[in-house]
Amino acid sequence: MAGVQDACDLCETAVNDDDIPLQEPFRLTIDIKATLVNKPLTKEDKKIRKTAREDKIEELTKKVSALRNAGGGALFVHLQGLSPNDRCLGLFNEYVDDTLTKLIEDGVLFVDTYTKIWLSEHTTSEGYQEYLLLIVKSSPSLTTADFKTKVKESVCTMAGVAYMKEPRNTEVVVSWPSNSPLLPRVRLQEKLFEAIQTHVLTSGKLSVYPPKTARTMSDILYQRIQIHGKHFEGGLSFVTRSLAVVLNLPKVDIPDGVISEVFYVLPDRPSMILCFVCEKRDDLGKYVLRLARRAINQIRKYTDEHFSAVYGLLDPGDLESDNLFADVLRSIEDKTSALCSLHALSMNNVKCMNIIRAFLAAVAVTDLTEGHSMKPELRLLSKQQFCNLVENIDKDMVVIDKATSTEADGCSEILMIEVARRLEKRGPTILLVQEDLKIKLQEQHADIVSHILASDELEDVSRDNYPNIQHIVAANMKNE
Ligand SMILES: [Zn+2]
Repeated sequence: MAGVQDACDLCETAVNDDDIPLQEPFRLTIDIKATLVNKPLTKEDKKIRKTAREDKIEELTKKVSALRNAGGGALFVHLQGLSPNDRCLGLFNEYVDDTLTKLIEDGVLFVDTYTKIWLSEHTTSEGYQEYLLLIVKSSPSLTTADFKTKVKESVCTMAGVAYMKEPRNTEVVVSWPSNSPLLPRVRLQEKLFEAIQTHVLTSGKLSVYPPKTARTMSDILYQRIQIHGKHFEGGLSFVTRSLAVVLNLPKVDIPDGVISEVFYVLPDRPSMILCFVCEKRDDLGKYVLRLARRAINQIRKYTDEHFSAVYGLLDPGDLESDNLFADVLRSIEDKTSALCSLHALSMNNVKCMNIIRAFLAAVAVTDLTEGHSMKPELRLLSKQQFCNLVENIDKDMVVIDKATSTEADGCSEILMIEVARRLEKRGPTILLVQEDLKIKLQEQHADIVSHILASDELEDVSRDNYPNIQHIVAANMKNE
């Protein structure tokens, strides 16, 4: 789609090149024909070149102000057709400096706002002779962090494709606290897990997560939980179609009649695993027992706390009033706590937080680690990937929007694979990708999902050709 994808192939490579030692995570590109810049305007070509030059200045203005408002960044100026010997900045400065000066409204010096460097002099990577980097500092007049974040989000639409590089050298591999001696080490960005935790939890209050998006049959369940947890300072209630899917458990067959599943942690109360069902039946009772055992084992892997949980079924009758709901939770507690060690059930504030962290880690971990050491390693999804995963995982048709993703393409690939892999646990899934990626995935991950198809095969997807398919995961094709 024009206006979204405006970088040339080389620019796309350059902004994503890990060998470029650049601190600025926020990057934009602009293509300018060198002939527009490196010759002064003569009378003859004034008419033709003048409009082209003005258009480019307008684009440059937009992009530089986007970077200033977003807290600073790097503009990759691609001077197309520049000869390798032409390293004089004079004409370029003449062309852009007036405009750049106008963008400083806060009295800061030009030299404190902009730095120009030749990219080829600062990297060992080949092929960047035509690039000038314009490093842009933030505008101090925009200071509130919240506003900056908003601006950052809108930069993509204001200024074409924005590339967010994860900050360099902050990736760490840690031994996660665990009850299992076999848990591989976990690779993550520093501070990443805290970011996920802050996003999910509400300080001093129960958090009911993920936020529900549309009206669902679980609406009333959300309400009852919110009222029930009102008096607790902290805690998490995670409501989903399938805990097995979000917790990355081995594939389970979910019986008919299960509407929602809940993981409920509160300080001073036993943790609960609840299944909201159409009506209570024996097979559903066995199902929630099996689910609880597996979920508890999975959560134990990500904490060294001694942990167990009570479990049970809820039906629409139990949700008729807040009192009935509180009563049924109490009776679930009484019935199944006899089966667990009391020590494992007891909770104080610290343990409550540790159990929530363990739950979130189990959700956020993916075992897809490519291009790293040969030792098995788990990897934490980024906060954005975590949100996209959790907020999409209950849908049947999941579209990963590449255009609005502020992350590099590789990241949305990981996310698509992860969403498809999890959904496959709930039922047969089609992963729809571009032709070249299809070949790569079929070689490496053929077993993760029922079908991997190229996007142009979408027309062949019908109930006749794929009778059992329950989910489709695709990139947003509009923007390809
Ligand atoms: Zn370019």
